[in-house]
Amino acid sequence: MTYDTNNIFAKILRGEIPCQKVYEDSHVLAFNDIVPKAPVHILVLPKGAYTDMDDFTRRASAEEIAALFRALGQIARDKGLDQPGYRTIVNCGSDGGQEVPHLHLHLLGGRRLGRMVEKAA
Ligand code: AMP
Repeated sequence: MTYDTNNIFAKILRGEIPCQKVYEDSHVLAFNDIVPKAPVHILVLPKGAYTDMDDFTRRASAEEIAALFRALGQIARDKGLDQPGYRTIVNCGSDGGQEVPHLHLHLLGGRRLGRMVEKAA
């Protein structure tokens, strides 16, 4: 899939649309989800133009991959989620239910989160 430079997260990364930033470093930006599904719901993005997890794991450097996961762990600890625990979700493609075509990790916590996925119909 070609990267769409007009997707909403690309606009946030370029500073064209505001976000509630919770973390930033040279490779990663994280901000609160606009429609939170839990008391803590943060999106953690690589700054590079990667459409999804498939694209990222094909093309990203070891440094970018490490930075993304290090940032997620750091944010979870900063939010006090490491002890009660939390969930990380990455939706990929249409079966994965991905809506925004820039890779992002969902960090969810602050309550018991229940089932991981819906039962099949
Ligand atoms: P996904 O279905 O994995 O692509 O998730 C996309 C997520 O982006 C959803 O949880 C949306 O609520 C969230 N979202 C969409 N637009 C914005 C925005 N402008 N700021 C923050 N989160 C957003």
